[in-house]
Amino acid sequence: MKAHEKVIIVGGGPVGLLCALNLAAHDVPVLVLEAYSELFMDLRAGSFHPPTLEVMEPLGLTQKLLEIGIPVRKWQLRDRKKGVIGTFELSLLNDETPFPYRLHLEQHRFTPIVLEQLCKMPHAEVRFSCCVENITQNSAGVRVVARTPDGLEDFEAGWVIGADGGGSVVRKCAGIEFDGFTFPERFALISTAYDLGQHGFADTAYISHPVEWCAVFRLPDQGPPGLWRFLYGCDPDESEQVALSDSTIEERLQSVQPKPTSYEIVHRTIYRVHQRVAATFRNSRILIAGDAAHLNNPIGGFGLNCGLQDAMNLTDKLVRVVHNEASDDLLDLYVRQRRTANIEYVQEASIRNKRLLEETDESVRSSRLDDMRRASLDPSLERPFSCALR
Ligand SMILES: Cc1cc2nc3c(=O)[nH]c(=O)nc-3n(C[C@H](O)[C@H](O)[C@H](O)COP(=O)(O)OP(=O)(O)OC[C@H]3O[C@@H](n4cnc5c(N)ncnc54)[C@H](O)[C@@H]3O)c2cc1C
Repeated sequence: MKAHEKVIIVGGGPVGLLCALNLAAHDVPVLVLEAYSELFMDLRAGSFHPPTLEVMEPLGLTQKLLEIGIPVRKWQLRDRKKGVIGTFELSLLNDETPFPYRLHLEQHRFTPIVLEQLCKMPHAEVRFSCCVENITQNSAGVRVVARTPDGLEDFEAGWVIGADGGGSVVRKCAGIEFDGFTFPERFALISTAYDLGQHGFADTAYISHPVEWCAVFRLPDQGPPGLWRFLYGCDPDESEQVALSDSTIEERLQSVQPKPTSYEIVHRTIYRVHQRVAATFRNSRILIAGDAAHLNNPIGGFGLNCGLQDAMNLTDKLVRVVHNEASDDLLDLYVRQRRTANIEYVQEASIRNKRLLEETDESVRSSRLDDMRRASLDPSLERPFSCALR
């Protein structure tokens, strides 16, 4: 194997592993360098959209996800005071996709499936406990320096893909700007075994409120009946310790669905949320994808889906470049397609979704919710709304 044919992928998260699998499946040698000593298993994204299920199908992943995930065929928009505003049917997409639903499955159950498949591939290597610190490039290839348990180690390849998340070292080494903004409030993700379905909640429900807006989702966990996950913004002045305390969480969950006994909390996490897009997704032989290239708030579940779409779009093109079937100009098309889609759709839609849930002006809120109610009752109006918040 020649070094120039090889691709190094920095980051063994969902985007990095999918990049590696698609390249390896097309006979491109790959090396994944992951900073942690094992796959990251914390609570993060949990829904796969129809286009994502479509692009991953040829790799045999979609079928495996369908075996353990929850297909969600409708979602609700609710208001804390008024109750259900409308129910939106994803079956409206029946004639457009073989997967007319959002598939709920924890991100940390997806990555082991991809890793297992990747490890069976010839020319695929995954190295844990390898934290990349520096990258340089010349016209022939890239040199990646990583801190390993044995000290600093050098790796050479033809190309490097940074799939190393929002704080991307690869993006920084490539000198790519990452403009945008950070929301003052952090978001909490809380999961509980308490069944909200018995109170009429759909498996995906968005609950509008000027301060205490919330989204709830049923996730499969280790099998039926699964866990219910709450996602909401925390008071910006609250410390992390207070925001994640039993009493604060109890108060928030009770305000969404009161019940006589306390909620039992299975997971709790809090994180900062940003809206940012990298100035470019390529600097010569250095490419970036997923959270390394763009960040958005989670209302609508675009982060993971967009990253997985990046992974497939980029690696389909890189395969052709590595096999000398196309010039490397093709990689600029990746940048144009995926960066434009992110700026024009994902950034806009995720900000609009958040505003819809948290609108503080009562008359604007009522008018927007009325529009949504009308849309849910009229299939000719419903389609764009059905897709918006999924
Ligand atoms: C706490 C949290 C909760 C979230 N919740 C939701 C949600 O509810 N809904 C939603 O849609 N999205 C959510 N997201 C966003 C979603 O999880 C991301 O969009 C998705 O993980 C992006 O995948 P990725 O592979 O690009 O990056 P990551 O998943 O961040 O993976 C990056 C990988 O790179 C590794 N890495 C980093 N630096 C280096 C280095 N220097 N060298 C080697 N390896 C490195 C990391 O260890 C990590 O494994 C959440 C994100 C966070 C942080």
